[in-house]
Amino acid sequence: MAERIPEVLQKKLSDRLSFYDDLGIRLFYKDRSAAQSHVGSSRSLQQHSHEETTLPKPARKPEPMKLPPSALRAAAKGEALPKVTGPSLFEAVNKIVGDTLLKIREDLGECTRCKLHKARNKIVFGDGNPKAQLVFVGEGPGHDEDMQGLPFVGRAGKLLTQMIEAMGLQRKDVYICNVVKCRPPDNRTPEKDEVTTCSPFLLRQLDAIAPKVIVCLGSVAAQTLLETNRGISHFRGEWLEFRGRKLLATYHPAYLLRNPSAKSEVWKDLQKVMAVLGLEVKKGKSA
Ligand code: URA
Repeated sequence: MAERIPEVLQKKLSDRLSFYDDLGIRLFYKDRSAAQSHVGSSRSLQQHSHEETTLPKPARKPEPMKLPPSALRAAAKGEALPKVTGPSLFEAVNKIVGDTLLKIREDLGECTRCKLHKARNKIVFGDGNPKAQLVFVGEGPGHDEDMQGLPFVGRAGKLLTQMIEAMGLQRKDVYICNVVKCRPPDNRTPEKDEVTTCSPFLLRQLDAIAPKVIVCLGSVAAQTLLETNRGISHFRGEWLEFRGRKLLATYHPAYLLRNPSAKSEVWKDLQKVMAVLGLEVKKGKSA
């Protein structure tokens, strides 16, 4: 007699399979009815994962889906599943089908996932070359950005544009986006839950663009991508790695408006970026 899976686990497996199904992944079962009639048996789950699929035959047979023993124990006790490391399901699926900025924008939709949606005027998704070698990541839209639906178009944006042009580039050559896509009220710093909710879209944008260099403007962008609480002064201007890409954090243009003397530091940072991108580094030129 086949061993029975605890009810809690059955429900979790069934939910997970429905989730896959909603995404169009029907790799494990021919159809939902087959899935539901077999979730009572761990053996049948494994047997069916080897059966023919509705997708074209892969070159190699896929491995059966296995949950680690810790996940099975947690699910049986009704506890949250342990944190899964490695790519998320979205990441895995998008790697296969190829994510695009258009698709990410569609998925974002008229977002109400966090409280920032309440006061926003327009979502500021991002702007520029979808195949840019260089992406600038800011913190979040301000008043002008919220009105126009475009990133970095206010005073700080004008300074950023000047810096981009001083690099010998134009805004249309690079991609510009933010950690959060909606303006925080009174331009406050985005809160942790807002960053957590919105940053998956930023990660997808970065993966879809696949730039050579990511420049974080200010500590919110840097701390979000580097998953650190350390202040930006500890690593500003250093080459760091983000998912196999080169990342450099520098001061936010809004900080430069308040502290113009820091512009020379930022210019040194941008010259490092220019060198990596093969842009001509002109001596003595400052933004
Ligand atoms: N500041 C940011 O961080 N992003 C913008 O788009 C504008 C100002």
